[in-house]
Amino acid sequence: MAALLEVKNINVYYGAIHAVKDISFEVNQGEIVTLIGANGAGKTTTLQTVSGLLRSRTGSIQLEGKPIQNVPAHKLVAHGLAQVPEGRRVFQQMTVEENLEMGAFTQANSTVAPNLERVFDQFPRLKERRRQIAGTLSGGEQQMLAMGRALMSNPKILMLDEPSMGLAPILVEQIFDIIKRLHQAGTTILLVEQNARMALSVADRGYVLETGRITLTGPGKELLADEAVKKAYLGG
Ligand code: ATP
Repeated sequence: MAALLEVKNINVYYGAIHAVKDISFEVNQGEIVTLIGANGAGKTTTLQTVSGLLRSRTGSIQLEGKPIQNVPAHKLVAHGLAQVPEGRRVFQQMTVEENLEMGAFTQANSTVAPNLERVFDQFPRLKERRRQIAGTLSGGEQQMLAMGRALMSNPKILMLDEPSMGLAPILVEQIFDIIKRLHQAGTTILLVEQNARMALSVADRGYVLETGRITLTGPGKELLADEAVKKAYLGG
């Protein structure tokens, strides 16, 4: 069966800087796939290319076998891609519920209420705080809100950029528990993380990025046990 998302031979530049070098990877229906790597390895650039914010000079990106590399970013949500950006970027002045409703802008009005109930089932904390102004939520709660907002569009694939960034260890655990639950409920996830240990422990498969190239790939558990990965990304 064809992959849900297939990225083939993409090359992305910032002016003269060659940030992503001939990267190919795929995400199958129901999988969690993670891209790990050090600061500056090209993880965010790769994700932003998939989500249409940056363009590759070469290759192709296909969702369910259809090319999407020329679809503008704002239209990709309707095609089934939802991204949770690095740093969450919730609408600070709006309430939790208003933020979630913003995530449903591609949906018919009739689906907003059921989607909201589904997200509130997945994130009871957001339900408790539905009338709270988003800017007053904790970092972990804002991450939940950003994830909930993305899920309001009923995505085929949820792309998470560094969900653990800036969170205390206990909150990182909570966010990864939520990622596991979403996976169990059937959500397909592409996860970019610097926290390689957590990411590989939940991922079906992982890709290691080093200065813009994929240097290693395999099942999450195998990469966790790999000596080179341990040395470079897991603190020895
Ligand atoms: P991080 O975890 O720090 O976000 P990353 O793996 O996501 O790292 P990218 O942000 O994709 O890495 O960066 C890849 C390379 O591209 C780096 O060398 C970075 O300095 C460079 N880069 C990123 N954004 C820009 C930009 N707007 N202009 C120029 N160079 C950039």
